[in-house]
Amino acid sequence: MLAADFARLGEELRAIEAGGADMVHLDVMDAHFVPNLTIGPALIASLRKHTALPFDVHLMISAPLRYVPAFAEAGADHITFHIESDGDPAATAAAIHDAGLSAGITLKPGTPVETLFPYLSCVEMVLVMTVEPGFGGQKFMPDQLEKVRALRTELRRIGHVCHIEVDGGLDARTVTAAAEAGANVIVAGTSVFRSPDGIPAAVRTLHAAERHLPDC
Ligand code: ZN
Repeated sequence: MLAADFARLGEELRAIEAGGADMVHLDVMDAHFVPNLTIGPALIASLRKHTALPFDVHLMISAPLRYVPAFAEAGADHITFHIESDGDPAATAAAIHDAGLSAGITLKPGTPVETLFPYLSCVEMVLVMTVEPGFGGQKFMPDQLEKVRALRTELRRIGHVCHIEVDGGLDARTVTAAAEAGANVIVAGTSVFRSPDGIPAAVRTLHAAERHLPDC
C-alpha cells in the first residue's frame, strides 16, 4: 500500500481486491531503522474494516519484538521483521506465533543471505528485498534473486516448507524472473497503484505474468 493514495485507502483496497490480489502488504517504517516514516497500528486497524484480505505487515523498525502485540491487535495476519533489527530473531518469531500470526524474516540487500539460514525453520515466509528498504518507486535489483535461489536450495536441503516473497521494483517485466528464481509471493506497489491501465488490471497483469510458481 506504500504507493497508494493515502487519502483514498479504502477505495484503493477495494481496487486491488477487484483485481484479485491475494494479500495486502503494509510497510511500517520508524525513521530509525530506515530513514522514512510511514504508518502504524492505528491506520492498519482502520484499514482492517475495509477488506477481508490477509494483512502482510513488513516491519522496518528497530524494535519489532516490542510492537508485535500492537500490530496483532490492529489486525495483522502475518508479520515480517528484519534480521538487522534489535533482539533475538528466534524470540521475535516466537512472539509473533504466540500472538496467533504467521512469521516472516527478511534482510537488506547488503546483508548476506546465509545470516538467515539459522532461523529458516522458525518462519513461514522469507522476504528478499529487491530494493533498499525505506522508499517506494525504486529500481529492481536483479542480483538479489541469487538470494532467492540460495534460499530455495537451503529450504529444500532442510526440508522446510516456506514461502519466498520478493519486495521492491516488481512489475510485469521483473515478476517472471523473480518467480523463475523461486519466489512465490510478489509485492507490487508502484506498478499497481500508478498503472495507466488502472489498479485491478495491473494486479491481473502481474498474476498472468507469474507462470512459474514453485510448490510451497
Ligand atoms: Zn515491504
